[in-house]
Amino acid sequence: MKCQDYSLNRQTERENLNLNPLQRGGVLPPESRQALYEFSDGYSICDYCAGRLDQISKPSINSFLEDMASFIGADHARTVHGAREGKFAVMHALCRPGDTVLMDGNAHYTSHLAAERNGLNIVEVPSSDDPEYRIDAEGYQETLDELNDMGEDVSLVLLTHVDGDYGNVTDARAIGKIAHDSGIPFLLNCAYSMGRMPIDAEKWNVDFVVGSGHKSMAASGPIGILGVQEEWADMVLKRSNRHQVKELEMMGCSSRGAPIATLMASLPHIIDRVNQWDVEVEKTRYFVSEMEKISGVRQIGVRPTEHDLIRFETPFFHSIAGKHPRKGFYLYEELKKRNIVGIKRGQTQWFKCSTYGYSQEQVHYIANSFGEIAAKYREMAD
Ligand SMILES: *Cc1c(COP(=O)(O)O)cnc(C)c1O
Repeated sequence: MKCQDYSLNRQTERENLNLNPLQRGGVLPPESRQALYEFSDGYSICDYCAGRLDQISKPSINSFLEDMASFIGADHARTVHGAREGKFAVMHALCRPGDTVLMDGNAHYTSHLAAERNGLNIVEVPSSDDPEYRIDAEGYQETLDELNDMGEDVSLVLLTHVDGDYGNVTDARAIGKIAHDSGIPFLLNCAYSMGRMPIDAEKWNVDFVVGSGHKSMAASGPIGILGVQEEWADMVLKRSNRHQVKELEMMGCSSRGAPIATLMASLPHIIDRVNQWDVEVEKTRYFVSEMEKISGVRQIGVRPTEHDLIRFETPFFHSIAGKHPRKGFYLYEELKKRNIVGIKRGQTQWFKCSTYGYSQEQVHYIANSFGEIAAKYREMAD
């Protein structure tokens, strides 16, 4: 059999400024590209394994996991295949089919799927209305009280630390306290925060924390981090009866080879950049203020933003699409001419973007480019 042409290149993405928020935090530093090469081969991490991935000392996965645990304020850390597998593992270890899990109305679809695959009942804490979509501690308290009045037990409280729609940063500590005071374990989904901003599971009353290597931790992935506090270690890191060294929820071993090698190589880089988080937020606020100089452009979500993921409402760009010969594609094409990609083709009514990791000059150039496009087509707008 002869294969078709798969054309595996990313020249466009490499040579342009990519604003896709999904990808900004997963860019590898040079040392991790080297690690990727070194560990390209299948099972290459297993040369010195005595039966447990997390205990391998060459390369020092054991030390790496200790460092990772202290970096996020957890007693134990494991690698999993992604944030979703971390959530699934926690729910699977803690809950029984029919149990209820409480989560925010901005929860990621993978939180829903993890619960559904475990046969759990989902109750949502609604967000506030447009344009903020805020999730607050009072909402959690109210929903828990209502469930309590109805005599319904909650097995797990889940919070999306930073959601992927608005980039709202929630008050994990306050919601952790509510869960803690109600005696319910608390799972914090840090897919958009761990590796970007500081996380302190211990201080925030977090029992379980998950992160995403390919989303926010400069790793190739697929890989995630699962942090577990000591109190729950017996349950979540339970061993197999039949294969006594193997951890059941990890299916023996989780992410191995290139995904973990790149995450390990990136840890020093991640520690550094988390310390620079304030600078990223400032840059993003500057970007928002420049973008909002364009007529009708408005940042949706909590303001001023506390995260680099930004959702803009852009009715001005949308009204141009109605008259432009290229319809909604003009925006993508005009941006591309200016070496900017990552806004979905054809999308003009609203879009999400991020300038995480770009220099002040690059951010200025990006905002300026949007301004230029707006000025160019001013006549066409309603
Ligand atoms: C991207 C994302 C996920 C999924 O992360 P994976 O590591 O790919 O499983 C989960 N939750 C949120 C909030 C996300 O933004």
